[in-house]
Amino acid sequence: MKDIFCRIIDGEIPSSKVYEDDDVLAILDISQITKGHTLVMPKKHCQDFLSCPQEILHKVMDVAQRIGQAEMLVLGAVGVNILSNVGEIAGQSVIHFHVHVIPRYLSQEPGFQITMQSQDIAAIDMQDLAKTIHEKMEK
Ligand code: 5GP
Repeated sequence: MKDIFCRIIDGEIPSSKVYEDDDVLAILDISQITKGHTLVMPKKHCQDFLSCPQEILHKVMDVAQRIGQAEMLVLGAVGVNILSNVGEIAGQSVIHFHVHVIPRYLSQEPGFQITMQSQDIAAIDMQDLAKTIHEKMEK
């Protein structure tokens, strides 16, 4: 069964289009976390950020950047969060790669908060960890 974004791309479900070209669609998120909250996605289905072909990923990120820039100019946003959830555990609810562009107006938005608290790194061998990740990276 088609995911909801494939259905929007195919014109089966209406959306508020911010931008469209041959490869990329950007629409307002139906749940506006902040005013102007936009989703940027490839038209050709792929599951998530990690599995998206590099050429398409670059196009999606280019559009996300330009939308963030425009939102700073026209909406009076003073910051932007760029977010892409990968996997249900990370909060991905639609399994079709997309990037959230979330304009920020306040340091504490009523609808959106990210808290990052560091763990005790004394228990982690940082050099070994960095090497392990590096060695597994795609060339
Ligand atoms: P995720 O949770 O996968 O990172 O983000 C999915 C986003 O898609 C959610 O923020 C949700 O509000 C949005 N969304 C889900 N269904 C629709 C829809 O039919 N139209 C639009 N414009 N956004 C949707």
